[in-house]
Amino acid sequence: MAASPTHVRVRVPSKVNLFLAVRGRRDDGYHELVTVLQTVSIHDTLVARLERTGASAHPAARRFMEIAFSHDADGAVPTDDDNLAVQAARRLMREVGMGATDRTSQCGVPVTQLHLRKRIPTGAGMAGGSADAAASLIALNHLWDADLDSYQLRELAADLGADVPFCINGGTAIATGIGTSTAQVLTRGTYYWVVGISDEPLSTPEVYRAYDTVGSGGEPEPDAVLQALRTGDAEALGAALHNDLEAAAFHLRPALAGGRDALMEAGCLGAVVSGSGPTVVGLAGSAQQATAIAEVVADGFDRVEVALSPAGGPELSYG
Ligand code: ATP
Repeated sequence: MAASPTHVRVRVPSKVNLFLAVRGRRDDGYHELVTVLQTVSIHDTLVARLERTGASAHPAARRFMEIAFSHDADGAVPTDDDNLAVQAARRLMREVGMGATDRTSQCGVPVTQLHLRKRIPTGAGMAGGSADAAASLIALNHLWDADLDSYQLRELAADLGADVPFCINGGTAIATGIGTSTAQVLTRGTYYWVVGISDEPLSTPEVYRAYDTVGSGGEPEPDAVLQALRTGDAEALGAALHNDLEAAAFHLRPALAGGRDALMEAGCLGAVVSGSGPTVVGLAGSAQQATAIAEVVADGFDRVEVALSPAGGPELSYG
């Protein structure tokens, strides 16, 4: 029998919302949504390493586990238990009956080192934290031989955040409810995006509060987006991109509307705020056009990247 790995790596993509409609506010304050999500090729990578020392080589030592976490991002990303990757690790520990401990309390307790290479912009509406939570569940499910299937992982994921279940599988999906019920969507073709990034995050709860004030108007349906994806029609997809939260994001950050207009004037087939923003994505007709448009709009954002979608799902590798 092959030995269990002591070192795994999960590369996990970000997402854009091709369509997002708010369907109302529940009594608990959450908003009900209909949204179509697709993964894009801006990735984080989580490396998980199990250090077995002395007595911890014994399987019984796995009943306790210490988590050590680090990342290469700036101060906006928490390094403690607030980080969603760490929260995911602790949620999985509870699920499989592992007790938490700290280094001083017990000798020989195994340590799982998590290191995050952060490339997905933070607080950007691209599900960065959710992607990291999904990466953590997938990595540690393997590293700890927890053997949960994808359904069970998605159940844990739903406890961690609305976008986390989508991030477990990736690809293209329609999500309803508060976003945790997802179904895969048939999609053809590859899409090329100009991703306009702002260094200053927008808080998701703040955007929803602004939405409750400014609203959006209409009751849009995702049909046109779903049809465009089914036929691989980039022009139709560009025309159908929609986000009910866009007006709220523009209300809080008026410069974003200028960024979207700049993308359209530079030749995008459509442009929209992703999720709760502030990232604005523009759909280009080809990879070459995306590169050319990115140069034209560079001054309108703090940073511009070119990415493609769909970007598959999390990729697990050893070593
Ligand atoms: P979504 O698109 O799911 O609404 P987002 O992309 O707008 O999310 P995140 O990048 O997940 O937002 O960050 C939101 C907040 O979550 C950050 O300001 C940060 O304090 C916290 N956070 C916790 N864990 C992480 C993580 N692994 N990466 C980034 N932010 C994290």
